[in-house]
Amino acid sequence: MQPARAYIGIGSNLDDPIAHVRRAIQDLTGILASSCVAQSPLYRTAPIGGPPDQPDYINAVVALDTGLTPQQLLTVLQTFELAHGRTRTVHWGARTLDLDLLLYDQLVSADPWLTLPHPRLHQRAFVLYPLYDIAPALFIPGRGLLTTLLANCPTQTINRLDSDE
Ligand code: ADP
Ligand code: MG
Repeated sequence: MQPARAYIGIGSNLDDPIAHVRRAIQDLTGILASSCVAQSPLYRTAPIGGPPDQPDYINAVVALDTGLTPQQLLTVLQTFELAHGRTRTVHWGARTLDLDLLLYDQLVSADPWLTLPHPRLHQRAFVLYPLYDIAPALFIPGRGLLTTLLANCPTQTINRLDSDE
């Protein structure tokens, strides 16, 4: 069977976020029946939504070729979030690690447990910029070309980290 191409969004804003994101990328490279085909640079971004006065986020996006189903993949992502000490308290509050399944091939799903494409990806600069770094020609089902989404995305403070930061 042909593997699927999945894109995973990574975010952290607590407890040494750069280290959490780097470790998360390592975690993702070790997923069963999967291989990491691209990883974006890291970005520092201002929080949007959630409670005020949250620290900045560190974000990145990884592309995987995977033999797992989207449900299996999300379950693995959730075990990684827990292993990084994430607790779900405040909605959109600060977190040690957030792993979102952004896209799984061109699959569309309205299931609230696993919505594909990720329901807010098209509005989030912290997803669109790193996605563009690794897959500039991407088409997001139901939303359009990544380049068009980037051009229309709300202004957000986002800065690429130097690789030695
Ligand atoms: P956000 O990522 O929007 O900040 P959360 O991580 O707190 O919000 O939301 C997690 C919930 O979203 C989980 O219950 C999960 O089942 C659901 N969910 C729906 N679609 C997806 C997806 N594509 N990727 C990750 N989680 C998803
Ligand atoms: Mg999430």
